[in-house]
Amino acid sequence: MDNWLKKQALLSGDKLAVTDGTNNLTFAELNQRATQIAGQLNSLGLLQNERIALLTNNTLAGYLTAMAILTAGHTIVWLNRRLSTAELNYQLTDSQVDFCLFEPGLETTGLLVKTVSLTDLFAAPVTQNTLQAEFKETEPASIMYTSGTTGRPKGVVQTFGNHLNSALASALNMGVSPADEWLCTVPIFHISGFSIMMRGLIYGMTVRLVEHFDAREIHKILVEEPITMISVVPYMLKKLLRLKDDTKAAYNQRFQGMLLGGGPIDRSTLELCEQLKIPVVQSYGMTETCSQIIALSFADAANHIGSSGKPLFLTQLRIASKTSEIQVKTPALTPGYLGQPAKYTAKITPDGWFKTGDVGHLDEDGFLYVDGRSDDMIISGGENIFPDEIESVYADCDQLEEMAVIGIDDELWEQKPIAFIVSKSNELSAQALLDYGRARLAHYKVPRTFYVLDHLPYNASGKLQRYKLHELLASKTPVQQLK
Ligand code: ATP
Ligand code: MG
Repeated sequence: MDNWLKKQALLSGDKLAVTDGTNNLTFAELNQRATQIAGQLNSLGLLQNERIALLTNNTLAGYLTAMAILTAGHTIVWLNRRLSTAELNYQLTDSQVDFCLFEPGLETTGLLVKTVSLTDLFAAPVTQNTLQAEFKETEPASIMYTSGTTGRPKGVVQTFGNHLNSALASALNMGVSPADEWLCTVPIFHISGFSIMMRGLIYGMTVRLVEHFDAREIHKILVEEPITMISVVPYMLKKLLRLKDDTKAAYNQRFQGMLLGGGPIDRSTLELCEQLKIPVVQSYGMTETCSQIIALSFADAANHIGSSGKPLFLTQLRIASKTSEIQVKTPALTPGYLGQPAKYTAKITPDGWFKTGDVGHLDEDGFLYVDGRSDDMIISGGENIFPDEIESVYADCDQLEEMAVIGIDDELWEQKPIAFIVSKSNELSAQALLDYGRARLAHYKVPRTFYVLDHLPYNASGKLQRYKLHELLASKTPVQQLK
């Protein structure tokens, strides 16, 4: 394939490629700026390295630098700016990079590799260098670490072919029109955000970058600017819905919908979307599959609330018979984890399917419902219990801020669910929570023990780390039990 930047400069040169609301770049300008930055990377000697780490927010400078790394034929190692220094150093060491480019203002003290700020990079002289003439399907474009929800993050190698197939499958599902403008408020260092950049490049579509998620600002943009799509994770969706409900303001006329991913969503939120007439595409995917591989089309959404949809055109899906694990085959699947071939091989079945580690079921029409992670599943008295289900029932309990459920060993039942709560009220009792659950759930699913915490452990992408709750119980730290 031709270098995608050069190609879009040729095909859609005058079209708006990216905007942060103030500064705009057409595809021709994007190509020209990325070429220049590639020359600056070269003059700083950074292009002798195959992989370049990038620590940035959703800014134009970060966006341009990522494009420069690609057009120069190198691999972006995306770093999550919310990680601690120790976590970043693990990834820098694991990916064997020598340099980390960073956006000024982001913390880099203590990093174990040479750091170069984007300001210094953009001020460096330009040394001509040969740009990558072709983007090859099997070549890595990016390395991105998994969220680390279940343990240490794994470095996922994402090839140009993976990104291309992901973008094509998404286009076949949602359609592409010349007027499309995708709002990117999800981080570009996660696949949710980077896949928007890649779709922009592949479709010749405009990307509207927003640095941080601020619900009011996003709401205003959706009302005032010609945004057609936005990617959201559940908490963003909830905040936007609340604002929409309060203000009753209509989004701009071109608005088509929201792509929701990253985690499960409760029924009442989805029903509110229906009520407010906001089309939401539920989707399922992971870093390893370069974003969504399963999605629920606009048309099906109303009749399959709670489902993540059907496998996209290029993806095959099966549910393993004994374990109910979701297994997939897709050209968007990573060729491996960096430096951990055994970990990858362990996730491929003898007949070539990728084991996602998630458990799910299909309805009679072939729609997928994600039940939870197999590691989180609680088997009690022969019944499978998923923490997600219990938590989403308790999400409507007024006196609770939040709840997280894990399974612990039990002599009688093998395992039983217990809950960690963050309470809104001092009056709350264990009996009240027990009664609440019993009125709404099968009795074996209702937690009998409730531990009180100030806050629950979330990782840098806002996902609950249940393994930390297991660690907390196993540690000597006393945890207060609700009476
Ligand atoms: P790690 O692999 O390091 O433990 P992670 O799996 O959270 O972290 P990601 O690749 O960011 O890292 O997330 C993918 C996971 O997110 C999926 O495997 C699944 O568990 C969850 N997920 C994604 N979409 C959905 C969805 N629609 N419903 C429920 N869970 C989802
Ligand atoms: Mg994972």
